[in-house]
Amino acid sequence: MNYNWECQACENTVAAGNESCTTCGCPASCSGREIDSYKEKYMNSDAVRNKSKFRCSKCDYHLSNTGAFRAAGGSLSAAFDLATESFNYVSCNKCGYTEFYKSRVSGAAFVADVLLGS
Ligand SMILES: [Zn+2]
Ligand SMILES: [Zn+2]
Repeated sequence: MNYNWECQACENTVAAGNESCTTCGCPASCSGREIDSYKEKYMNSDAVRNKSKFRCSKCDYHLSNTGAFRAAGGSLSAAFDLATESFNYVSCNKCGYTEFYKSRVSGAAFVADVLLGS
């Protein structure tokens, strides 16, 4: 995959370069039955339970997308000059407010506020 794609099982966005979902492990090209099994597994996973604790700091909405990406070139890494760092992010499903975290630092060191979407 040379572009960001959306996992059909967990509906999270998967960063370019990953052949399978970084959230639930579902391969990019799999059958509907496989998608269902990954979806079921995902709905019972810690990731989803953690999601329910999310509160958007902008609109107080409780559902979010989470994920990780490695800043390796492109405008984002250039802007932050952090080409070798990898990040976790959490973004509000309602207003799109996104927070990025350095994934190497435990306890989530806040690095940037980016408003994505509308
Ligand atoms: Zn997935
Ligand atoms: Zn929000």
